[in-house]
Amino acid sequence: MIQNLANTLLNQAILLTASDIHLIPTENRYRILMRINGSLQFFTLMSLDNGERLLAHLKYRGFMDISETRRPQSGSFQTTIHGCKISVRLATISNFRFIESMVIRVFPEQEIQPFQKSSVFRQITKHILKLAKSQSGLLLFSGATGSGKTSSMYSLAHSLNLKYPLQIITIEDPVEQLMPTFLQVQINEKAGLDYADIIRATLRHDPDILIVGEIRDTHTAKMVIRSALTGHLVLSTVHADSPYGVLSRLLELGVDKEELRQCLIGISYQRLKHLYCLFCNQKCYPLCNHLVHKRTALYEFIEKQQISKFLTTTIEADIPNNIGEQFKKGVCYGFFPS
Ligand SMILES: [Zn+2]
Repeated sequence: MIQNLANTLLNQAILLTASDIHLIPTENRYRILMRINGSLQFFTLMSLDNGERLLAHLKYRGFMDISETRRPQSGSFQTTIHGCKISVRLATISNFRFIESMVIRVFPEQEIQPFQKSSVFRQITKHILKLAKSQSGLLLFSGATGSGKTSSMYSLAHSLNLKYPLQIITIEDPVEQLMPTFLQVQINEKAGLDYADIIRATLRHDPDILIVGEIRDTHTAKMVIRSALTGHLVLSTVHADSPYGVLSRLLELGVDKEELRQCLIGISYQRLKHLYCLFCNQKCYPLCNHLVHKRTALYEFIEKQQISKFLTTTIEADIPNNIGEQFKKGVCYGFFPS
């Protein structure tokens, strides 16, 4: 019964192309909301009883502690709904009455679009693809949460893989997007396996491309750089609000400037923008299906020369064709609502 409810909810999320489901307790009910194309939409209400049972069921499936309702927890599981494989990531937090709320992120296995097509401005995506094809080293992606940086990284690796089959290993916490042709490894801190340990192990597997989910500590940063210096193409993300912010963040983590200069191929920063819909006459309504892709990525990219200059002088050289300029151009071309 409660399992059906959980599956129905996940199924609806997939049909509506929602990226996450929010179960929020109010005084006497649970409000259920879905984030669709970046905006949160009301979905339904549920009694507190049912909501709590649903949460307990999902926590059980996500290998979380069911008896613990006061401390925040996270978990994940994989499931198949109507033949579609989906990966689910759960996070709970408790309110002042010790009733938990939950955010469920859903990642359906999907046709991944070629990296060149991830932006309406193809010149920049083609350039990044060409760089990744031609050399080993470290390529970093940044952007706000939900800006699609992880998807970009996957679609880049996928595009490189189309022409020649490559050994692509990903290290994630947890695995989000399922990629049938990648070897996906999940870190397990409970079992004492962190990013750095697994990077070391995967290098012995001789990957052509190594994808490290996120650099968020010194140890991981150093291991990622070492892998990139030993002739691998390494892709990773860093949480920062500009391409130069990535460099500042890495320096804060205490990595060696000279090694950074040697291994970095480039740094991309991205944002997602809603595309103009002729039928909705602005951006698409969340539930309409006029456009195949309702949003597009805009990339800012710096490479060796700008990186080198910043590392020696801390001067942020201008970024030609930055996101602001691309957006203005896009409005003129009719890609974006004005
Ligand atoms: Zn529309």
